Amino acid sequence: MELIYEKSVPGRTGVRIPVADIPRTTGGFPAGLRRFEPAAFPEVSELDLVRHYTNLSRRNFSVDTNFYPLGSCTMKYNAKVMENAAALFAGCHPVVALLPGGEKLVQGPLSLVWELERQLAEITGMDEVTTQPLAGAHGEMTGIMLIAAYHKARGQKRKYVIVPDSSHGTNPASAAMAGYEIVTIPTAPYGDMDLDAYRAAMNDQVAAVMMTCPNTLGLFNPYIAEICRIAHEAGALTYYDGANLNAILGKVRPGDVGFDVIHVNLHKTFGTPHGGGGPGSGPVGVRAGLIPYLPTPRVVKKDDGSFAVEAHPEGIGRVSDFFGNFGIMVRAFGYITLLGREGLIEVSEQAVLNANYLMARLKEEYDLPFDQTCMHECVFSAARQAKEGIHAIDIAKYLIDRGFHPPTVYFPLNVKEAIMIEPTETESKQTLDSFIAVMIEAARCAKESPQELKDAPITTPVGRLDETRAARALQVCCE
Ligand SMILES: *Cc1c(COP(=O)(O)O)cnc(C)c1O
Repeated sequence: MELIYEKSVPGRTGVRIPVADIPRTTGGFPAGLRRFEPAAFPEVSELDLVRHYTNLSRRNFSVDTNFYPLGSCTMKYNAKVMENAAALFAGCHPVVALLPGGEKLVQGPLSLVWELERQLAEITGMDEVTTQPLAGAHGEMTGIMLIAAYHKARGQKRKYVIVPDSSHGTNPASAAMAGYEIVTIPTAPYGDMDLDAYRAAMNDQVAAVMMTCPNTLGLFNPYIAEICRIAHEAGALTYYDGANLNAILGKVRPGDVGFDVIHVNLHKTFGTPHGGGGPGSGPVGVRAGLIPYLPTPRVVKKDDGSFAVEAHPEGIGRVSDFFGNFGIMVRAFGYITLLGREGLIEVSEQAVLNANYLMARLKEEYDLPFDQTCMHECVFSAARQAKEGIHAIDIAKYLIDRGFHPPTVYFPLNVKEAIMIEPTETESKQTLDSFIAVMIEAARCAKESPQELKDAPITTPVGRLDETRAARALQVCCE
């Protein structure tokens, strides 16, 4: 593709800027910072520019282009009507809510924050929610800070946070950021956290246990109520990583099971196009005992039905600007409101059905380390193919050539050659069938023409990269 600078022709332009009718001034800008030569922008027509960006966008893979079964990420299709809804608020600056008399002008946005908090509390079985955290990992850190504040208020300085070895890497990282030492519990042969090892690790120095359910193997842990009971007996609190909420929407409420704190990923479960690191939103829900520590400020509903912003001085402080990632919250509020109770139940049922369908159709060709009914995702292993020299990464790259985004590979860490597939509820049986056909073809290729897998991808602007180096020494232009 020709670079935009190569298309530049002196004097060509796509816009006509009116001649300034105000006197030129330096605006008080220090001379050292002033530009004396015009900036070297490419000089192109509007059509050149439209083609440039359109062609760039076509190098990007997205849910809007094809199936994106990236396990643990819930890459569902998001209705475009939510984009319109989010755009409605684009002209409203969040600082208005904090200015004297400003609340009156932003009753709509404030009511949305308040309503969304109520919706999320209802869905998760919690008593209160804060929308401030800007991603799942940020929610985890906020949640653990709330737990630390809770123990501190009781004069306790506990040292440890327990996480199972199948947890998302952000769990131990967030707990460590909040000042705790991590105790890792192995996965038992049945696929869940080893209950005996957990019991043995629990004591009065443990601040919390962090559970993901279903876990990153896509398995629902039948012992979560017992796990909560054991923690509470020792005075520890229980944290629910709700990133996989898509699997249990309308079926199980973590608050009812005995969890004290939860984060949910609005950008996974509640309809926001995400990828490449953003945008995210990770609201945190808590049970009554933790409400005093929630971040400040809070949106409150007054007796006359109006909404106000209130300081919450005894809490852990602010964890982000204003009330969080508002555009994402609008999408989530719209999504939950439009689907309603019945719709959300259908989401989880369909997501689980799709994952089990894929699992059943592919288990002849790929090893299935934990062969049991899965929830919203299933984890295969390319161990069988690896014996012939073909690895999970080769299969992933082959899928790119066949038009599909690869599943998550090499995660969870407790499965060798892991291939983690999350289809989500938004895909049709026809799409799943074409993906299954290509996965079966990849397994056949591994036996019959392995070089084809080794060479993939061949249809992309760049071929097989050293991914670590590509990320660290990013080179955005290529000849
Ligand atoms: C995605 C995910 C997270 C982290 O969420 P981010 O929004 O990416 O920070 C945490 N836990 C699990 C299980 C996840 O899938």
